[in-house]
Amino acid sequence: MPTYTAPVKDMQFLLHEVLEVTKSDVPGYDELEPDFTSAVLEEAGKLASDVLAPLNPVGDREGCKLENGVVRTPTGFKEAYEQVREGGWMGLDCDPEYGGQGMPYILGTGVGEIFVSANMAFNMYQGLTHGAYSAIHAHASDELKAIYLPKMVEGIWSGTMNLTEPHCGTDLGQIRTRAEPQDDGSYKITGTKIFISAGDQDITGNVVHLVLAKAPGGGPGTKGISLFIVPKFLVNDDGSLGERNGVSVGNLEEKMGIHGNATCVMNYDEATGYLVGDLHKGMRNMFTMMNEARMGVGLQGYAQAEAAYQAAVDYARERLQGRAVTGPKNPDGPADPLIVHPDVRRMLLDQKSFVEGARAFTLWGAQLIDRSVRASDHDAEGLISLMTPVIKGFLTDKGFESTVLAQQVFGGHGYIEETG
Ligand SMILES: Cc1cc2nc3c(=O)[nH]c(=O)nc-3n(C[C@H](O)[C@H](O)[C@H](O)COP(=O)(O)OP(=O)(O)OC[C@H]3O[C@@H](n4cnc5c(N)ncnc54)[C@H](O)[C@@H]3O)c2cc1C
Repeated sequence: MPTYTAPVKDMQFLLHEVLEVTKSDVPGYDELEPDFTSAVLEEAGKLASDVLAPLNPVGDREGCKLENGVVRTPTGFKEAYEQVREGGWMGLDCDPEYGGQGMPYILGTGVGEIFVSANMAFNMYQGLTHGAYSAIHAHASDELKAIYLPKMVEGIWSGTMNLTEPHCGTDLGQIRTRAEPQDDGSYKITGTKIFISAGDQDITGNVVHLVLAKAPGGGPGTKGISLFIVPKFLVNDDGSLGERNGVSVGNLEEKMGIHGNATCVMNYDEATGYLVGDLHKGMRNMFTMMNEARMGVGLQGYAQAEAAYQAAVDYARERLQGRAVTGPKNPDGPADPLIVHPDVRRMLLDQKSFVEGARAFTLWGAQLIDRSVRASDHDAEGLISLMTPVIKGFLTDKGFESTVLAQQVFGGHGYIEETG
């Protein structure tokens, strides 16, 4: 089974030689001294190699199970999540006002790559929580922020993103989930969402669903959509957990991969929801989470390519097949390692150059996000808005090609599960 080593040297090169983060005028970047960033990335790398990567095949084999309405995650996920949570990784780049460490997003992005390469399915539980945190932080009332954010930053409550419905994915103007206003200012949410990543699990005490729904009086299409917090358990005035809300998991999707992450059908049956931001302006507010998710998906594209590359290059150094065209490179052995063959080298170098470029592109994008959020730079905000779909689309398309090249380096063994 392949192992994973965090590419800390390459990340440090990008942060300090290419992006020169400590020379930047973005508030908080002065803290990103090389010793500090390398210590953080090394520590994340240890957790990734020792705890998360070994759970990746377990998650893939076991998958998630729906038992009596509750999703059971694979063996070891709960304990690993606790280690990540206790290490303070969830709140690394979150607002100190809500218990976060206030580090720049660019550092969280580097750590995110490491965790995603080691175990993407596992990391999605906290990735979705971070996205929900960001949308609530940017758009919710102070009251809602005070109730939900500290628990999400601490990692004891998780978050989800509920856009997709059975009849609509890309064209969200068609959504049918309804929100009926109540006298106390809350809403009753009714409808069905599908494909909800991390929609439920047995890891956190509560799940904070961010749900798009149509409230009366909105215009047609996406104009009439509003955004709501719908917690799995209602929250009492003192912050403790109250009654179960009217939201349940209808089913788990059987997928071709990422089995360790529960992709849920979510049924909302007059569930209590709380408006986030302005009524009928939900799409704009949800875009905070969607954009973060899109950056995260682009990152997943190259982080998977990095993991596949590491496995392929190790294999190419060990597997002995044929002789180099320029004469034996391993004369005492029965054959030379695969890595001597020009076409194998081409495949490996294609992967390596893609991953290095993709990482540079993503960290550059993360720097723009920091500049737009921390320095209120509207040009940076405009540029990253333009580039976010490019990061998602390009890095996932190319990342897929790159992992297929990695598979080719293994020959027939690339099609065998045991190889990874
Ligand atoms: C593993 C997984 C996890 C997911 N997690 C979540 C989640 O957490 N929350 C959530 O809400 N959703 C989630 N989704 C759903 C995902 O966001 C949708 O699948 C996506 O939005 C596309 O919608 P669709 O599948 O209905 O495809 P459709 O909208 O039916 O599109 C089908 C195809 O047509 C193309 N197409 C559609 N409209 C146009 C157009 N106008 N012009 C050109 N091409 C077009 C699309 O690009 C696509 O290739 C997840 C999906 C998967 C597979």
